[in-house]
Amino acid sequence: MRVIRTKAELREALGEPRRQGQRIGLVPTMGSFHDGHLSLMRQARRDCDLVVVSLFVNPTQFGPGEDLEAYPRDEQQDVGAAEREGVDLLWAPQPEEVYPEGFGTTVEVDARLTGVLEGDPEHRGPLHFRGVTTVVAKLFNVVQPDVAYFGRKDAQQAVVIERMVRDLDFPVEIEVLPTVREPDGLAMSSRNAYLSREERSRALALSRALRAADEAARRGERSAAALTEIVESELRNAGIEPEYVEARDAEDLSPVAELNGGPLLVAVAARIGSARLIDNVVIDPG
Ligand code: AMP
Repeated sequence: MRVIRTKAELREALGEPRRQGQRIGLVPTMGSFHDGHLSLMRQARRDCDLVVVSLFVNPTQFGPGEDLEAYPRDEQQDVGAAEREGVDLLWAPQPEEVYPEGFGTTVEVDARLTGVLEGDPEHRGPLHFRGVTTVVAKLFNVVQPDVAYFGRKDAQQAVVIERMVRDLDFPVEIEVLPTVREPDGLAMSSRNAYLSREERSRALALSRALRAADEAARRGERSAAALTEIVESELRNAGIEPEYVEARDAEDLSPVAELNGGPLLVAVAARIGSARLIDNVVIDPG
């Protein structure tokens, strides 16, 4: 595996494989790898001739007062983990390489997708997704992957990126893979590193609550309000005051009252100690 720092080096490393018609897969990450990241790399390894992983803690997707400085970083460990997954190129640029002096262009997806849930001004705000789509657009332009892999853990991010790709005609397929969880249900996240033992055990309420909503839907509950109330009450019982619990159309994030047409996204965000955690379940009406 090669660790690459500059765009020029990366383009040069990709030139020959592309000329040979190799299938190139990209896994964008902010590092601090766990099994969620590794599942994306594994799928890319199965599907592609050449696997590129980007490792960049993107400053523009963090708001003021968010955890940019504290965000866990361990490049040495990440290099070892990516190597073990058979990754070919690990692109780990410095911020100046991504945002050189005078950088002044952004990519912004419609507020109906980016101004709700995480993007709601009450929560992370729409600038979060502007940071995400701008950096992902740049990654797509530099790597020009045939396929890029994202996790359902960040369900809204996946919807936003799929829309950007469709609207701007990026010639890339988007694969969204299931959320990888700890054996006790906690969704894997780099931010779990912030949790104390007590907080970690409290955090289990998030996945438990979403599971309860999923089970209620399987038993026939169709009301979105009833499903979110199930989540809220599980969280209350664990002493968690969520930032939001919302049920929305999993494909276009529009508000939904009844589970009937398409899949329903039930998403939650909550602060537990110093960690802001998100989790979700996609409930299939069938
Ligand atoms: P991050 O490094 O947190 O930006 O995540 C990089 C990619 O890994 C994103 O596409 C995430 O959705 C995905 N990811 C993060 N956590 C998980 C998880 N627990 N299961 C599956 N994918 C994940």
